[in-house]
Amino acid sequence: MGSGIFFTFPMVLLLVLLHHHLCLSAVADDDGDAIVSRFQEYLRINTVQPKPDYYKAVDFINSQAKSLSLESQTIELVKGKPLLLLKWVGSDPTLPALLLNSHTDVVPFEESKWTHHPLHAHVDHRGDIYARGSQDMKCVGMQYLEAIRKLQASAFRPLRSVYLSFVPDEEIGGHDGAEMFVQSQVFKSLDIAIVLDEGLPSPAESYRVFYGERSPWWLVIKAKGPPGHGAKLYDNSAMENLLKSIESIRRFRASQFDLLKAGGTAEGDVVSVNMVFLKAGTPSPTGFVMNLQPSEAEAGFDIRVPPNVDSEALERRLVEEWAPAARNMSFELGQFKQKLSGEPLLTAADDSNPWWRLLETAVKEAGGRTSKPEIFPASTDARYFRKAGVPAFGFSPISNTPSLLHDHNEYLGKAEYLKGINVYVSIIKAYASFESKIGSRDEL
Ligand SMILES: [Zn+2]
Repeated sequence: MGSGIFFTFPMVLLLVLLHHHLCLSAVADDDGDAIVSRFQEYLRINTVQPKPDYYKAVDFINSQAKSLSLESQTIELVKGKPLLLLKWVGSDPTLPALLLNSHTDVVPFEESKWTHHPLHAHVDHRGDIYARGSQDMKCVGMQYLEAIRKLQASAFRPLRSVYLSFVPDEEIGGHDGAEMFVQSQVFKSLDIAIVLDEGLPSPAESYRVFYGERSPWWLVIKAKGPPGHGAKLYDNSAMENLLKSIESIRRFRASQFDLLKAGGTAEGDVVSVNMVFLKAGTPSPTGFVMNLQPSEAEAGFDIRVPPNVDSEALERRLVEEWAPAARNMSFELGQFKQKLSGEPLLTAADDSNPWWRLLETAVKEAGGRTSKPEIFPASTDARYFRKAGVPAFGFSPISNTPSLLHDHNEYLGKAEYLKGINVYVSIIKAYASFESKIGSRDEL
């Protein structure tokens, strides 16, 4: 008898089972890897402001859409700024549709401050994917598509149509992107009942949801005064006048910050004020002239006003205390300033809104939890949809992760990304199956 290897029957069975098991887990891993590598591919496309390669992004998303048999159209409301609109056709065309919005552009970065190159989408040993846009918001755009892929694989068919918009320019105000889209005939013809747009990562276990936003007031105050010798003490110099205003604004800032520090008040519920530039002095070849007090000085502030704040009172404060004409002061408010007269742009986030209930339940069914709905501390495209009377929630399914939007070393964990896809599976399923005609134009 030779000494060859030979298997008894139970051993063969065990090996067959073992082989089968290995194959299954290999398939599962491959699936996760493929999902993550599609995400990396999108992250590596350079859509950094101010020169985003929108066409490359649109081509890539379009290739994904093709693999999912989604209807697709590229809309160029402004030349060079394509907007991609995809549609997963629902079986009941009389029902108003769901819109999943995301922006394709990202903010710039300081490469030297990053551990890994922000356009390489490097995955580190912990499974964290480092890239500009990993949180804001290429993740969300791809997660929508991956969720649809999963739903299709499970043979789910939507009752109402699901649209996906990939819009340009959000990071520079959205005027040539979502704002124009909302005003276009194309958008009006879609009959959208509810929009989902970006939110913020949560450092805790629960997900954050946003139902409104603070209004940005970009304020520039200018002071004028007589020029004077650097050695002379006198009243009403431009520098003195500006400093008095800065002191007043800083006191107001401190009062708001104190509310936040005391706890119990959310970031989106206080007025934030931050000085973003100071411009003064008389330039000389070596820097600034030192023995001359300049006749003009100005400072810029980024102010964010919550919807529940009396904006007229704030404007009075601006006119009377921060830039009083009596002190040779003038001011300009940036183009973003929105007066809060009329309806505040809020989407009901309580039981009166079935979309809220569906969202809350769907997240729960996916094993997650939503925290108390909040006012978004900055701005997103959601405000344009709300302004058009379409309810919109800001939501990014990222928990247990520090918020690194616009920061160095923006990252998202692989596991968190994959978990987020399942959250969208649950939400899209719930929204696309909802039979009520609520939100339809027929209803109005
Ligand atoms: Zn964003």
